[in-house]
Amino acid sequence: MTLIYQSTRDKSNQVTASQAILQGLATDGGLYVPIKTPDVALDFDKLKNATYQEVATLVLSAFLDDFTPDEIAYCVAQAYDSKFDNATIAPLVKVDSRYNLELFHGNTIAFKDMALSILPYLMTTAAKKHGVDREIVILTATSGDTGKAAMAGFADVPGTKIVVFYPKDGVSKIQERQMTTQAGDNVKVIAIDGNFDNAQTNVKAMFNNEKLREKMAANNKQFSSANSMNIGRLVPQIAYYVYAYAQLVKTGAIAAGEKINFTVPTGNFGNILAGYYASKIGLPVNKLICASNENNVLTDFFRTGTYDKNRDFFVTTSPSMDILVSSNLERLIFHLTGDSDAATSELMAALNAKGEYKITPEMFDQLGQFYADFATEQEISSEITAVFDKNSYVEDPHTAVASAVYKKYLTETSDTTQTVIISTASPYKFPQVVVESLSGKKDESDDFDLVKKLENISGTPLPKAVSELFDATVRHHTVVAAADMEKAVSDYLNLD
Ligand SMILES: *Cc1c(COP(=O)(O)O)cnc(C)c1O
Repeated sequence: MTLIYQSTRDKSNQVTASQAILQGLATDGGLYVPIKTPDVALDFDKLKNATYQEVATLVLSAFLDDFTPDEIAYCVAQAYDSKFDNATIAPLVKVDSRYNLELFHGNTIAFKDMALSILPYLMTTAAKKHGVDREIVILTATSGDTGKAAMAGFADVPGTKIVVFYPKDGVSKIQERQMTTQAGDNVKVIAIDGNFDNAQTNVKAMFNNEKLREKMAANNKQFSSANSMNIGRLVPQIAYYVYAYAQLVKTGAIAAGEKINFTVPTGNFGNILAGYYASKIGLPVNKLICASNENNVLTDFFRTGTYDKNRDFFVTTSPSMDILVSSNLERLIFHLTGDSDAATSELMAALNAKGEYKITPEMFDQLGQFYADFATEQEISSEITAVFDKNSYVEDPHTAVASAVYKKYLTETSDTTQTVIISTASPYKFPQVVVESLSGKKDESDDFDLVKKLENISGTPLPKAVSELFDATVRHHTVVAAADMEKAVSDYLNLD
């Protein structure tokens, strides 16, 4: 039986996995979720010896079951190959008394590569299955990492175009250079005067704009999304939770069946939601620890049951988590309501109208698996220093948020459960805060000098993804006001 996906805002809006991947967002503004949890055979005596590709195949086959085994095998083989600079794809490294799952060995040295290296193949395979001959235009808002990872995946993929919007002053120099130097005849990068939430809100508005959709169709084009709202992003992320667990069984750190914690540096709630789905298919998970930076809207939500985005927005040293509207939380909300589209729609309408909603006590009671806290800028910096001093291991600021929050969790709970820190970026992507933390002094040098300093301090070699940026040509210069994003898309696509 084919697994059906339904919209969180209208359960009669139902599609298969491949259709959901093609569409990205549901046209009613909701997100697609599976109507039931698929069966996945999690036999860790076997899985402990499985490769990353084998684990990914197992998970993808269950959730994306209208793809044939050959199609899944093709997508997995194209995605998880030598573009990763580590043969195991996602190495698990012991740091102190816990483990760091390094998800930054792909093209753009951040965890978005885990899903975005496979999404283009899932999407073009889905298009072929459905006889779609329209050009697929990927529209993406990025807080820094998604944009580059999506472009790296989609560049020059026939039948596709990709438009990426990023907040001009909201990404690191390295991130910006990664994006503005992107080659490919089908890519367009646009900086906006505004923050990530402006970018994301306007991208969502374009998806929900019926007139624009008709115009696109008249030009033989259709939008799709590479944002983490697309289940083609979410599902591949479930795989590394299973893989990490299998590796712990393999090394004897845990016995098969023993529960573990995951600490996840969280922004749009995609990564940690994949952990939630992993536990729903039977992965033994004790706590999912949701770690935020000073944009701590999720910490307050998990503690009080009120989601309130009416607050100051901070530009922090972990920019990929500088988010006040965590889009994927809607999926969790939907499940907490007992899969009610009406209740979910009501809460999301409140968020839209007042910037705030409160969940019911019955919903709140189901949040026991989550723990949430945040780290200040000072705590992040101190954590980078502390982890390096003790273990000679350099964490990037996003990973350090998780690491610092895990420390608070330990102090508060004395929980001795084995814990995996989801490590989302290479420190080379955010060299300023890392070098300043490790040297103990301000350093305003250019990011490109900073990465060389970091190489000296840390002794770990500069990844190719960074070294090749040194003399790459800047190809993209467009900057627009947040309000002009739709116009910029129309111009680029020559819509009349
Ligand atoms: C995107 C990102 C995050 C946040 O992940 P979400 O799935 O949006 O919660 C954390 N760290 C890094 C480095 C990222 O790129």
